[in-house]
Amino acid sequence: MGVLSSTIDVPTARGRLARLRGLTEAAGVSAVLVSPGSDLRYLIGVGGGSFERLTALVVPADPAVAPCFVVPKLEYAGLGHIPFDDLEVEVRPWVDGEDAHALALAGLPPGPMAFSDTTTALHLFQLRDAGATDQRPAWPIVRELRMRKTPEELAELRAAGAAIDRVHSRIAEWLRPGRTEREVGSDIAAAIVEEGHAAAEFVIVGSGPNGSSPHHALSDRVIERGDVVVVDIGGPLPSGYCSDSTRTYAVGRAPEPDVASAYAALQASHQAAVDAVRPGVTCQDVDRAARRVLVEAGLGDHFIHRTGHGIGLDVHEEPYIVEGNVLPLESGMTFSIEPCIVFQGRWGARIEDIVAVTADGAERFNNRPRDLVVIPG
Ligand code: ZN
Ligand code: ZN
Ligand code: ZN
Repeated sequence: MGVLSSTIDVPTARGRLARLRGLTEAAGVSAVLVSPGSDLRYLIGVGGGSFERLTALVVPADPAVAPCFVVPKLEYAGLGHIPFDDLEVEVRPWVDGEDAHALALAGLPPGPMAFSDTTTALHLFQLRDAGATDQRPAWPIVRELRMRKTPEELAELRAAGAAIDRVHSRIAEWLRPGRTEREVGSDIAAAIVEEGHAAAEFVIVGSGPNGSSPHHALSDRVIERGDVVVVDIGGPLPSGYCSDSTRTYAVGRAPEPDVASAYAALQASHQAAVDAVRPGVTCQDVDRAARRVLVEAGLGDHFIHRTGHGIGLDVHEEPYIVEGNVLPLESGMTFSIEPCIVFQGRWGARIEDIVAVTADGAERFNNRPRDLVVIPG
């Protein structure tokens, strides 16, 4: 698999490159190198991943020096529709045997350089040997571009939320006693695509004891009547913007009283976090709002991860809703709110909605019932 491409319009890409340049200058670095991954897709519409052959966009802080796109000649053939000329990006194709790392650095003014998250160690070390000795992370620069979504990006994330809600609304078609998690999961994966996603990026069906392992995916465990089942699913729309939503279901009958009361505390925790969201509140404050409710219910030790993560072209991106993150929320930021409770080896539950920060609160992109829905069977 090589560098894949998607589309982006020229004014959007030009605007993003200009902002990146300004932020690079403000960060005091001479250039930023962006490797294949969602940062590159965001900037110029080139998708795909990082490989042993170097592909990179190099954007200097100095507006007198044009950005360059270093790309193996064999990959460039597939990028004919990317309007590099209109973007005023100089393309530097290279062939095996040439020093691509030196090519990426040619013509750059000296000074510290920043590298995007998906730049592999393989390339970082070779870039260092080619002269980029003062290496910095690019994420503090790039997150300023990507964290606050535009109305167009919010519309995509809203559509992604509606698409994954349609999958959750159909869960009773597949989740039944006597079926394995894997059987249920493959039906859900097909529905994720049917409902408008480009792919089912992840499907978690954590039944009974497996629900106590938050990143459990699928197993051959047979679902039983009385199981509590965590279903956490999502994927990208064709635009690349992702969905991610969790609901917890009770199979066949209403849950035992202890399960129901713990679940009620989880619902209250989720609601408290959503209620805490508004501009100026810190990410840490939102995590604390969720955690406080579960601590007061005596369930603090059963909430074993952060409250949420940003979402956009990546399922997990800035801002992270976690203790210690004092970043203030701003309108247009989008992230998950997903407190959990786990009882090791017994059962678990999670409720996850994507929310966007509005001028005075939060808009939810997931709107399915948040109760412990009983699936007949
Ligand atoms: Zn996760
Ligand atoms: Zn999730
Ligand atoms: Zn999530």
